[in-house]
Amino acid sequence: MSPVPVHRPPLPVLAKVSWPDAAGPPPAATAAALAAAAERLASGQLVAIPTETVYGLAANALDPDAVALIFRAKGRPATNPLIVHVADVAMAKRFASDWPEAAERATATFWPGPLTLVVNKTAAVPDSVTAGGATVAVRCPSLLLTRKLIEVADCPLAAPSANRSEAVSPTTAQHVLEGLGNRVGMILDAGPCEHGLESTVLDCTVTPPRILRPGPISANQLSEALGCDVVTPTPPAKETSAGAGQGTASVARSPGQRLRHYAPRTPLEVTSDAPAVVKALLAAGQQVGWLARHPANASVRELAASAGLLVVPMPESPAAYGKGLYATLHALDQRGLDRLVADPVPDDADWAAVRDRLQRAAS
Ligand code: AMP
Ligand code: MG
Repeated sequence: MSPVPVHRPPLPVLAKVSWPDAAGPPPAATAAALAAAAERLASGQLVAIPTETVYGLAANALDPDAVALIFRAKGRPATNPLIVHVADVAMAKRFASDWPEAAERATATFWPGPLTLVVNKTAAVPDSVTAGGATVAVRCPSLLLTRKLIEVADCPLAAPSANRSEAVSPTTAQHVLEGLGNRVGMILDAGPCEHGLESTVLDCTVTPPRILRPGPISANQLSEALGCDVVTPTPPAKETSAGAGQGTASVARSPGQRLRHYAPRTPLEVTSDAPAVVKALLAAGQQVGWLARHPANASVRELAASAGLLVVPMPESPAAYGKGLYATLHALDQRGLDRLVADPVPDDADWAAVRDRLQRAAS
């Protein structure tokens, strides 16, 4: 008997890209990959792209049908708006009905870079991109390859993180492949992301400007560059039964900031009592991963050799911790452990982004 043919959609094209010399042309293979990616984007398809924050799932932001594919591939609620990636400030201004002083100052200091600005939108931006709202989030990535792709494609790119909704964001092309598989046709692989955490989101439509999502650019850096205070977000509260996440005031201003987000498949608990929690889990026969901030402490060393325990020493600086966090969660998920336990990170401004992601990952 002949075997029954099984229809499997093809895996995505994976193209390695690099642009080592910003002043010169890219390697020929990169130029070809960018052209192929641009062609896909122009014809309404999705491409997974590297940025300095996390990998993005990109579509032509001005094509509502292409944008709809993003929501479908991610399983993303239509109420969660997308960030529009642009090649420069001039391109951003094409989609903003006004450009506040705060946006002018913020872009002068931090663009290109991991800072997203919320401004009032023009009619050019499809409603699906902004979840029906009157504002649009714009960002100019510092990764040269991303900006070059936007230039070659000749359109702004709507690009949320290239993962299924609520899952841990990808910081390598391999993460994208594992998370989305054939839901995307092409992945551009530029290696691990520089920051490893999503951009800071700053709402410039209010005075004083307000941080909607903490990220690599801190509140202190922003207030210094803007010459004014910026309002910082309250820590994520417990999910309400309505599932909205944050306090009511911030829901309207920050659509899409669900509490459960960036979550590994393995349940994660952040606790200042990690040694006792780990000990109890091991005693109950559980396989445990411990994201340890002080691996040299006696309480950690005492347990480190226990059967069923994997201690993962976490970096000491917020930048290094942020860069490695998602890769660590992806790697631990692959091990099929029962539980993850993390030491809390410091309660200061420099750790705001890491603290936010850890809390959401643990909810
Ligand atoms: P990501 O899911 O990482 O692409 O991040 C997109 C996030 O940016 C959304 O979840 C919102 O929190 C925020 N965002 C995007 N557009 C807007 C907007 N128009 N107003 C407020 N926040 C926005
Ligand atoms: Mg995301």
